[in-house]
Parts: sequence; C-alpha cells; structure tokens
Amino acid sequence: MSFITANVKKILKELPENVGLVAAVKTRTAEEIDEAIRAGVKVIGENYVQESEKVFPLVKEKAEWHFIGHLQKNKINKVIRIFDMVETVDSFEIAKELDKRCAKLGQIMPILIEINSGREIQKSGVIPENVVNVVKEVSNLENVKILGLMTMGARTGSPEESRPYFKITKEIFDDMKEMDLPNVEMIYLSMGMSNSYKIAIEEGSNMVRIGTMIFGARDYQK
Ligand SMILES: *Cc1c(COP(=O)(O)O)cnc(C)c1O
Repeated sequence: MSFITANVKKILKELPENVGLVAAVKTRTAEEIDEAIRAGVKVIGENYVQESEKVFPLVKEKAEWHFIGHLQKNKINKVIRIFDMVETVDSFEIAKELDKRCAKLGQIMPILIEINSGREIQKSGVIPENVVNVVKEVSNLENVKILGLMTMGARTGSPEESRPYFKITKEIFDDMKEMDLPNVEMIYLSMGMSNSYKIAIEEGSNMVRIGTMIFGARDYQK
C-alpha cells in the first residue's frame, strides 16, 4: 500500500461522519489522483483550469470535481465542462457570467460563495459585511445555486491563528441559514486545509480541502 492510500484511509477514518473530504490535487498526476480515489476519495478539488484540462481526461476513477481556484471570466466555459461545483464564487459579476453560460447549456451549477474572512486586500472572496448582499443578488440567478460558503482564512503562522477566520465564516453561515432565502441552501461549509482542518472542524466546517496530508509536499515546497 503506497503512502497516498494509507493517508486517505487514515484521514477518512478520523474525520467525523458529517465532514466531507475534498482532495486538493494541484500539481498532482493522474496516477496519484486515481490512487486517492481508489482509496476512498469521492471529491477532487482543483485550482487550475489548464491543469484540470490536462489531468481530467486521464483520471480513470470516478469522482466529483470541485473548482477551488480563482475563477476568471475567460475560463468559465472550460470550468463548466469539467467541474460539478464551483467553490470560489466571489462576486455577483462572476456569478452572472457563470449563470449566463450555464443557461445556454441548460444546466444549473452548484456554487459556494467564497468569504474573505481574513480581509486581506490581495485575497479573493467577499468581505464579511458584503456577504448578505452578494448572496441575495446571486440567489436571483436561475442557473447557479448557492449551496454554502467557502473560506481560506488569512495566511497565518500556526493553525490555531486561523480559528477566528473559521469562526466568523461559521457565524455568517448560520446567519444566512436563518435568513432562509429562496434559491439558497446553506448546506456546505468548506474550510480547513492540511494544517488547519482539525481546528476548522471544531469551528463547524463540514467540508475540508486536503492536499499535502494526502499526497505529500508539492514539488515547489520541497
Ligand atoms: C492547495 C489548496 C488546499 C490544500 O492545501 P494543503 O495545505 O496542501 O492541504 C485547499 N484549498 C485550496 C483552495 C488550495 O488551493
């Protein structure tokens, strides 16, 4: 059994029952992704459209594909072709574009709204006080469907330091759930990565995106 299989099995065994695993596969090969899926991964998260175009046709095992990178207008048609969910919608404009292209194909794209919980200028995501407005606007679009929220949190030194970002995102999630807007279902709260997922789960995450802990360090980190 290779380390990828062992890692996936260990993580799946340890995750609480209500928490889904997204394997973050940027820079990984089709063989590595296949192995992760055979070991039990059901959802693949990919950041780069170009990379996904290369690797997607080579991945033999079946899984659901989530787009978790920065979404650009000129890549939307490709994103729609490959992905089953877009976790990183961070403006009405980009949602409208996604909606328009999905309408042409007669499909509905499940999306999460990305929250810039760390309020970092250079990061994508909706800042907390704008979330209600963006969600309301996006909920009027017929060919995208909001199913929850996603956040990265600010870059921090220690995992414990990301706790406040997870906390604020969970508060927004609960508020939005309570508002019970038409065409909005607050089901998924996607937060937590290899170094922070345990804390994210303590703060209410039910979807964790894990790369390094499954596949090892990425080449550019070695
Ligand atoms: C790379 C990435 C992850 C996984 O990060 P690891 O530290 O390798 O677990 C999760 N989410 C997003 C959006 C990423 O880009």
